[in-house]
Amino acid sequence: MKRIFIIIASLSMFLSVYANEPIKNVIFIIGDGMGLNQVCTLESPNHFERAEYIGLSKTYSASHKVTDSAAGGTALACGMKTKNGMLGLTPDSLPQNSVLTILQEKGFSTGIVASCRINHATPASYYAHQPNRNMDAEILSDLYKNGPDVFVAGGNKLLSIDSLQNAGYTYVNSIADLQKQEKGKIACVLAPEDMPAAPERGNDIVLGTAEAIRLLEKNPKGFFLMIEGSQIDWAGHGNNAEYMKAEVEDINKVIGLCMDYADNNPGTLVIITADHETGGTTVVGEEKEYKYSTGNHTGVMVPVYSYGSGSENFSGIFENTSFKDKILNLTDKKVKK
Ligand SMILES: [Zn+2]
Repeated sequence: MKRIFIIIASLSMFLSVYANEPIKNVIFIIGDGMGLNQVCTLESPNHFERAEYIGLSKTYSASHKVTDSAAGGTALACGMKTKNGMLGLTPDSLPQNSVLTILQEKGFSTGIVASCRINHATPASYYAHQPNRNMDAEILSDLYKNGPDVFVAGGNKLLSIDSLQNAGYTYVNSIADLQKQEKGKIACVLAPEDMPAAPERGNDIVLGTAEAIRLLEKNPKGFFLMIEGSQIDWAGHGNNAEYMKAEVEDINKVIGLCMDYADNNPGTLVIITADHETGGTTVVGEEKEYKYSTGNHTGVMVPVYSYGSGSENFSGIFENTSFKDKILNLTDKKVKK
């Protein structure tokens, strides 16, 4: 009897150590404008279906029932609702650090991969503090000050290579040159403005993600990587089903790569969500015809898919502002010895 008690006690001690293991790596994937019906364009099986937990995120902003990508990105990144158009500021214009900035200050490596320009609203939510998403010069000066360790996106036209280099970045403009990099801050800028649409841009977002992970994982402390499928939103604005399918297929490949990484690297959490839905997209008829009810964003909840260590914390219905604190708590857990 005593021996059984000892076995149970040591087993529960082992489990409590395991359960309190901090999350080391967080990969946060945003499909801009990606509602459930966008995901339904994929044939089954697909990588979304590997998710271990599913939730729903409420997307309204501080000023509107239907958010824009600046307020939506700010909620996901900085954990508070703000007014449409604002980046990294409360509605009263007080700057709030993003989960990326806070983890960077705690010694994690950080990265952003996006299929738009680096100064576009969603990536900018993670490093900028500006009252208007169109203030490109100010947003870029925030990038030079607070940017992630590694980024892969478009934006050459407005970026200053000198300013990037002064900020400590090594500048490259191709995936091939990115693959040669071994350490330090890396800016990989692949297009003058936004990246080309899928499928014309080939595998740049998938390859850029693989390279970002290769560079970031060198830090034994861990990393935070945000990846945005930016153009799912633009396909919704254009009510263009073929464009939408190609963009969702591209982010599906990224998700597969990140989930495989989590399989091979315990302590890795993968979250996939959206800032809002775009297009009021529906799938009708036996022929799976895609129809749209608007050329704008909609106010519906968006799905949250999670996978890997800590994924059980992302089921249920919650505000889009919940991600920051959940991620900070999970990465901060002290291991009980
Ligand atoms: Zn949009």
